[in-house]
Amino acid sequence: MADKDYYELLGVSKNSTKEDIKKAYKKLALKYHPDRAPEDKKQEYEEKFKEISAAAAVLGDEKKRRQYDQFGSSSFEGGQQGFDFSDVMSQFRSGSFGDFGDIFDQIFGGGGSRGRSRARRGSDLLYEVALTLEEAAEGVEKTISLNKLEHCKTCHGKGATSFENCHHCHGSGYIKQTQRTAFGLFQQTGPCPYCHGKGELPRDSCSECAGEGFIRIKKELEVSIPAGVDNNMRLRVSGEGEIGENSGPAGDLYVQVHVSEHKYFKRSEDDLHITIPISFSQAVLGDEIDVPTIDGTATFKIPAGTSSETTFRMKGKGIRHLHSSGKGDQLVKVKIAVPEKITKKQKDLILQLKEEKPIKSFLQKIFGS
Ligand SMILES: [Zn+2]
Ligand SMILES: [Zn+2]
Repeated sequence: MADKDYYELLGVSKNSTKEDIKKAYKKLALKYHPDRAPEDKKQEYEEKFKEISAAAAVLGDEKKRRQYDQFGSSSFEGGQQGFDFSDVMSQFRSGSFGDFGDIFDQIFGGGGSRGRSRARRGSDLLYEVALTLEEAAEGVEKTISLNKLEHCKTCHGKGATSFENCHHCHGSGYIKQTQRTAFGLFQQTGPCPYCHGKGELPRDSCSECAGEGFIRIKKELEVSIPAGVDNNMRLRVSGEGEIGENSGPAGDLYVQVHVSEHKYFKRSEDDLHITIPISFSQAVLGDEIDVPTIDGTATFKIPAGTSSETTFRMKGKGIRHLHSSGKGDQLVKVKIAVPEKITKKQKDLILQLKEEKPIKSFLQKIFGS
């Protein structure tokens, strides 16, 4: 079979970009749209349309374009790698060819398209869930409610409850088509455009799903969120996205967590930071105090002679590591709180302290005044 010059067919140069090709194809496809053909030129327009579609399908795909540049158009004919336009034809026969978006996706969206009969993976879904810091630290089970597509149970996703053999392809799902073009006869076996390769045609339309085969339902799902998740992390729940088309696999569900701000704790990776007010006497003499932690309280020993703004590390009191064992630390910053009101007795004692030289210099050391 003679080689066709796909570049010439689309009127683009050998160096044109995918965008140029798309544009050129769109222009020609609109011109030769079989719906616009004069009565006596229907056949001619249809042939032309097929040719430019085949050319665009090859040049619009990087891999096929390279193959074409190297071996010419004959390397695509009759094989699986060419463009299957029986689907394109069926689309405008069924009157759904008004929108060029579909056809573009089919041609430029990837190789070997079989259109509606092709198995297609379902879309992924994203669900956002709000967690408290405690929930993120300990892990939690969340029930999430999704509005998602599921196969219709009444027709088992087929869109109809009774079927008959497709009389166009005699139930095989495939049709051999011979096209006469300026370059010779062109024979191709492709999926039957009437039954979309299924070999059977519906006898009715499922009333539950209006013949779609799927319905949008509310589905509740238990999601187990592991201990250690951090703000904006996404967890993948495999197979819980939208259903696939034509027995394609379902998409995945992504659960994005939002961890809310905590009243006392600031998180930095798996460490937690907290600021604790202590009294001047606790700082000077030392003390044992209860410090809040993410899972309760823990005893913490303030050493004697602690300056304000000193940070202490409580090992293993932080957040559990997500991908390994162990936990982060809790960092405790102590701040000496100065009381706004004091009793007469306290005032006298502090005045006494003020007279003591060594303490005075100690205070100077702390506060620098
Ligand atoms: Zn149904
Ligand atoms: Zn058929």
